[in-house]
Amino acid sequence: MTIKIQMNTPLVEMDGDEMTRVMWAMVKKQLLEPYIDLKTEYYDLGLKKRDESDDQITVDAAEAIKKYGVGVKCATITPNAARVEEYKLKKQWKSPNGTIRAILDGTVFRAPLMLKNIEPAVRFWKKPIIIGRHAYGDVYKNVEFKVEKPGKAQLVYSSENGDEHCQIIQEFKGPGVIQGIHNTDKSIASFAKACFTYALDQKVDLWFAAKDTISKTYDANFKEIFEKVYAEGSYKNKFEKAGIIYFYTLIDDAVARVVRSEGGFLWACKNYDGDVLSDFLGSAYGSLALLTSVLVSPYGYFEYEAAHGTVQKHYYKHLKGEKTSTNSMAIIFAWTGALRKRGELDSIPQLVTFANNLEKATLETVEKDGIMTGDLARISNPPAKKVANTEEFIQAIAKNLDKKMK
Ligand code: NAP
Ligand code: MG
Repeated sequence: MTIKIQMNTPLVEMDGDEMTRVMWAMVKKQLLEPYIDLKTEYYDLGLKKRDESDDQITVDAAEAIKKYGVGVKCATITPNAARVEEYKLKKQWKSPNGTIRAILDGTVFRAPLMLKNIEPAVRFWKKPIIIGRHAYGDVYKNVEFKVEKPGKAQLVYSSENGDEHCQIIQEFKGPGVIQGIHNTDKSIASFAKACFTYALDQKVDLWFAAKDTISKTYDANFKEIFEKVYAEGSYKNKFEKAGIIYFYTLIDDAVARVVRSEGGFLWACKNYDGDVLSDFLGSAYGSLALLTSVLVSPYGYFEYEAAHGTVQKHYYKHLKGEKTSTNSMAIIFAWTGALRKRGELDSIPQLVTFANNLEKATLETVEKDGIMTGDLARISNPPAKKVANTEEFIQAIAKNLDKKMK
């Protein structure tokens, strides 16, 4: 009998929905529990439990992450009208990720897993490009309307003590559209801190880009706040010590450089840029199921998850008793990310080693053994040796892990 690795502080475990919930249980049972005396504080964020608790359970889970510092989350359904009907919900609950992000004031970082037999669409990329998206404001919290007739559109700000500032946007000669957007220094500074923290944590360069040549006040404010946080937050010294750099450039220049780069850096993006470019990078690196995700708060809390959703279509097949071939890699890497971080914070080197071994075992299953799920088999070069179903893939990883842990 092997002695299991012991943990000090619990991990905040947030269970979820559908196919990812099925894989979550398999990963725990076959890959984690044989080696670790798993200590978690468990929150069931499955839609049924969220509904029963009036979504209080999501808030409790976020508070627990504040208490313990590290969480790991399964994908969850964000209910729409169809889900309200399907689950007979009391109401259309908000996205749990949105709720947790708001409580932790966090930024989401997404990084692709790279495999020798899954080539990125851009052949220069040798290392992952991590995207950090500012998830507040700009066009996502806008006001906008159509102008039907000629007239004057103005931007007016009235301060609390009555001062007014007014500027003409446009003298319309005919129909058109106008839009008002905003951001806050507080939110931009939080975002900047999370990016500097994450770049240091991962020891990668940080790129930030905006369009301050055109938007000389709005985008320039982002650039200035980043520079200020960098200089004042003692990040500059820490970056120099870690041998990494902070680099600002214009967004169009950044896009051109990214395509010609080798990868291996964090790209901090404004809200809209991050929305567009994370989908672009995700698909250019191969598969949604290879995209890992971590929420980092400026106060140093970490929450790990897979970037993909609950894989609803596969779940309905699973419910009918059919075999599915769903990729558990991003879920496994969510667990290894969280366990490694817990190991580092609590000085448990065995936990860090275990996380490294499980990651290697997972990558080798695809790269060396050529065993993979359908999503990767479609794009693998050389072709897959075996297209595994959901269970078989996890079993193949378990075999490789067992060899490493002996
Ligand atoms: P999804 O679950 O990410 O799946 C979209 C498609 O991508 C799947 O149908 C599948 O394609 C492929 N895919 C995604 N993950 C895969 C994996 N691990 N292995 C193999 N293929 C994978 O997105 P969705 O269907 O739009 O959303 C389903 C539910 O997830 C929704 O209720 C949504 O609210 C929720 N969601 C949650 C999160 C989160 O909690 N972080 C994020 C996004 C969405 P094929 O069908 O072609 O095989
Ligand atoms: Mg998008």
